[in-house]
Amino acid sequence: MNLPSSTTPTTATSTSPSSDSTETNFTERCDDCGSRDSWVIHTVRLRGTLRFFCTHCLLRNHPTSFCPSCFAFYDSSPPHPSRRVTCSNSKCHSLTHIQCAGDAKPASSYLCPPCRNPTSFSFFRLIVDGNGCRSVDKTLSEAFLCAAKIAASSMNKAVIAAKCDADRRGREAALARKRAREALEHVVMLDEKEKARSVMPKLKESSVDRVIDQKPKLSPASNNGTVKETESSATTSTTTKNNGSTEKQNPSMQLAKVKQEADASR
Ligand SMILES: [Zn+2]
Ligand SMILES: [Zn+2]
Ligand SMILES: [Zn+2]
Repeated sequence: MNLPSSTTPTTATSTSPSSDSTETNFTERCDDCGSRDSWVIHTVRLRGTLRFFCTHCLLRNHPTSFCPSCFAFYDSSPPHPSRRVTCSNSKCHSLTHIQCAGDAKPASSYLCPPCRNPTSFSFFRLIVDGNGCRSVDKTLSEAFLCAAKIAASSMNKAVIAAKCDADRRGREAALARKRAREALEHVVMLDEKEKARSVMPKLKESSVDRVIDQKPKLSPASNNGTVKETESSATTSTTTKNNGSTEKQNPSMQLAKVKQEADASR
């Protein structure tokens, strides 16, 4: 299978802005070997950090996730210990199917393919023909597919972890909001209590003042004054009311009565 041009020429011919190309370069360089010519860079979450690896480095960093001989992806369920061989390299511990390990005897000293030849071995060395055209065979395709499966599984786990983290932070935020609201309510309650405490003596003082103010009004002198005032006003009102009729009628009637009495005496 022929492959498209490598990542380096693509970046070089890119006409995108400088910021975009910087980001592209960053994600197209292997974090482990630093290679920029690895065709595809896989994104994985390794030990809680987002990492970018070429196919070879990704497989080397996930030795227990696949069989380094047939490239079967274990997907977190490796073969039973009785059906696998563990690499004796203390830094590797890759798990190889017992049927893929051949007649490795003793099994305790078994070395996986990359550990057998650590300097020159590569899981994904592209085949380059005389014209510089790069291609992959069946084995390389299987290695690439295995690496892609590991990356996909890793990113799925990263999504789940991110969701769990977001949920936890959401719960923490809700709890913090609730505590803040309760604290505010407590402060408001304390403030109201304090205000009530400071208002009570003033109320007492003002009620005492009112009583003192009211006492002189109830004294006899003042009472008389008010009564007099009301009486005088009442008399004035009656006089003003009766001005028109009673004061005019009463003298004439009295005159008539006097005349009648005088006539009678004569
Ligand atoms: Zn690499
Ligand atoms: Zn295998
Ligand atoms: Zn190994």
